[in-house]
Amino acid sequence: MAEVDLHLHTTFSDGRLTPTQLIQLLASKDLKYVAVTDHDSTEGLPEALSAAKAFPAMTVIPGMELSTEAPGGECHILCYYVDPQDKELQQSLATFRGNRKDRGRLIVERLAALGMPVSWERVLALSDGGSVGRPHIARAMIERGYVATIQEAFDKYLGRNGPAYAERDKMTPQEGVALALKAGALPVLAHPTYVEGLDTLVPALKEAGLVGMEVYYKGYDQKQVGTLRRMAELYNLIPCGGSDYHATGEAGEVEPGLVGPPMSTMRRLEALKERRTTPQTGSR
Ligand code: AMP
Ligand code: ZN
Ligand code: FE
Ligand code: FE
Repeated sequence: MAEVDLHLHTTFSDGRLTPTQLIQLLASKDLKYVAVTDHDSTEGLPEALSAAKAFPAMTVIPGMELSTEAPGGECHILCYYVDPQDKELQQSLATFRGNRKDRGRLIVERLAALGMPVSWERVLALSDGGSVGRPHIARAMIERGYVATIQEAFDKYLGRNGPAYAERDKMTPQEGVALALKAGALPVLAHPTYVEGLDTLVPALKEAGLVGMEVYYKGYDQKQVGTLRRMAELYNLIPCGGSDYHATGEAGEVEPGLVGPPMSTMRRLEALKERRTTPQTGSR
């Protein structure tokens, strides 16, 4: 069991537990450090932080996960110690969530053209006011009997090369890193293997201000972890990670706390956060 899990979703994006339910589950697993990282949203953080007060042995890091687009594919940037009060950040996030809705509607239109109509209102209801994502559409498809699982919906229709896939406007990863830094957050590359061209992307993002990359992630075997750990060392990036838990309820989902970075990662993240928030004196 890991003591740290820095990648977790709630009902404020495409997770199925409310922030309170998630925090209670994490505390029951004796996790020491966790980060709540909804897609393009910080709206679940107040509830998560408030629920965490009941569990003083566990520290909750306010986070989020930005969706960006690199030449080699979709690239997610995790942001830790984000300030939800940052007005400029909230404006950007509101725009991204609007784009998510437009894109979702387009996917629903494509599904209808493929003979699989689902109701847009139902998709919105499933997203419950949070960031709309393809998993919500997948769930509406399951309800209509078109597919049996979220995985099947992605494999056959919603994945990047699927017939119902639609793009949306996204930032570049560099813009995502800049947005995080401007809001005082620490940007970390999520599930690095999902994007091609890491050997050029990682140094470019390091240059832009990336502070870490996921090394420990659901489904990564020892060889992948080893390769990513060496890459993190090479670029002096903090090795992060977590389960990317969504509580889908589907077979084989990795539970929170089963994969995560060591405590030394938390010490490095906390030290860096501290350095950035404490006014520097001339002698340092
Ligand atoms: P979206 O935010 O609409 O781009 O959807 C991204 C989310 O869908 C991810 O965070 C995962 O939860 C899920 N997802 C993405 N790709 C897949 C896949 N191939 N199989 C299952 N779930 C996926
Ligand atoms: Zn997700
Ligand atoms: Fe992601
Ligand atoms: Fe995620």
